[in-house]
Amino acid sequence: MSGFSQSGSIVIVGAGQAAAQAVATLRAEHFEGSLTVIGDEPHAPYQRPPLSKSYLSGELDHERLFLRPDAFYPSMSCHLLLNCHATRIDRRSKRVILQDGRHIAYDKLLLATGGRARRIAVPGEELPGIHYLRSLADSRALSEALVEGRRLAIIGAGYIGLEIAAVAVKRGLDVVVIELTSRVMSRTASEPVSRFYQQVHEQAGVRFMLNASVERFEGAGGLEAIWAGGHRLETDLAVVGIGVAPNDSLAGEAGLDCAAGVRVDQQFRTLTDPAVFAAGDCARYTDLQGVERRLECVQSAIDQAKFAAYSMLEAPREFREVPWFWSDQYDLKLRIAGIAQPGDQLVLHGNPAARKFVVFHLREGRLIALESVNSPSEYVAGRKVIAAGGSLPSQWLAGSSYCSAA
Ligand SMILES: Cc1cc2nc3c(=O)[nH]c(=O)nc-3n(C[C@H](O)[C@H](O)[C@H](O)COP(=O)(O)OP(=O)(O)OC[C@H]3O[C@@H](n4cnc5c(N)ncnc54)[C@H](O)[C@@H]3O)c2cc1C
Repeated sequence: MSGFSQSGSIVIVGAGQAAAQAVATLRAEHFEGSLTVIGDEPHAPYQRPPLSKSYLSGELDHERLFLRPDAFYPSMSCHLLLNCHATRIDRRSKRVILQDGRHIAYDKLLLATGGRARRIAVPGEELPGIHYLRSLADSRALSEALVEGRRLAIIGAGYIGLEIAAVAVKRGLDVVVIELTSRVMSRTASEPVSRFYQQVHEQAGVRFMLNASVERFEGAGGLEAIWAGGHRLETDLAVVGIGVAPNDSLAGEAGLDCAAGVRVDQQFRTLTDPAVFAAGDCARYTDLQGVERRLECVQSAIDQAKFAAYSMLEAPREFREVPWFWSDQYDLKLRIAGIAQPGDQLVLHGNPAARKFVVFHLREGRLIALESVNSPSEYVAGRKVIAAGGSLPSQWLAGSSYCSAA
């Protein structure tokens, strides 16, 4: 056990997915010093994925959103400071300064500040009736607004936009999705998967305006219409889902190196200060190939928090985790593992018409990434092959077809 494990104080800023994991790992690894988590929401750490899925649709109860029972934090001797915004880090005196004026001293600091919904900067953006979705409060407000018969415009055909579309169309809203690029989920999914999802949504009644950018919102007192792609579209409400911006200003203002995310090394230590670490959506880490990445998914937040905890305890481990992600829309479970690149060779296995298929991504014969729809066994086995750096097993090549490069 290192000397630091027995004493010292660790402060975590942000009380989300990464923070909850860091607390569990630090204590599991026998950290006996003081542990404080500072979060600016009124809630203990909760899961965000259901906010656009089962919580938004009303299928998941409020209590089941929380990552740990309330008793967990006292049982870990963790001071959970909620409704507390950290406004400044004084790295010289090793203190975090809160909005209410309190100073919290640390020996090691973990930044787990996550991200926020990217705002749309067009005229009318402040009109009532325009929603964003990042927090529990956002999800509740949106759920109340999703009333049968209303017209909903969703801006952005990424996962969050499409998940909201699936919930809203089921509730009987008239849904149109406005997307800047030529296909849905274009940032993260391959062309065959995009095409499949667009068709499924269209069959459910969702309409799409692709290659269309929003020019402005209109309304006297509340949202009435959106101008997009040169057309005026009347609507009752809108949701903007155009991506996530990392919460890195606290770090940047403290002089920590940031570049659309807090820059950390392979051990999740900031490049600037050996006492400060970052994990989760706010962190830009360097992978084993030396490529800098910022990921926005639960599993990465969990993995990075674990590895940051090992590093804070002066027992760093090599970070080799394969990122993975999921999305639930209608009866479809999309699971993506690995990081695809333009130019990957794509192999389609299974049958999209039967709503069960996998798109494998190959590079120089190796399986790099996969997108699986309702195919859990291929997903689990494929993830192992990706982690081992292997090639596509022959049983999956049989009955598969090559598609165009991603
Ligand atoms: C609607 C929605 C659906 C999603 N669906 C999926 C999915 O299906 N699969 C998946 O893998 N991922 C999904 N994600 C992404 C996933 O939830 C995030 O990747 C994950 O929550 C990141 O964890 P984090 O701890 O880095 O940040 P967060 O969970 O965002 O937590 C950060 C916390 O820090 C707080 N904070 C920030 N600055 C300060 C400050 N200065 N002082 C105090 N507190 C501060 C924030 O308010 C927030 O509470 C979804 C996200 C959203 C919003």
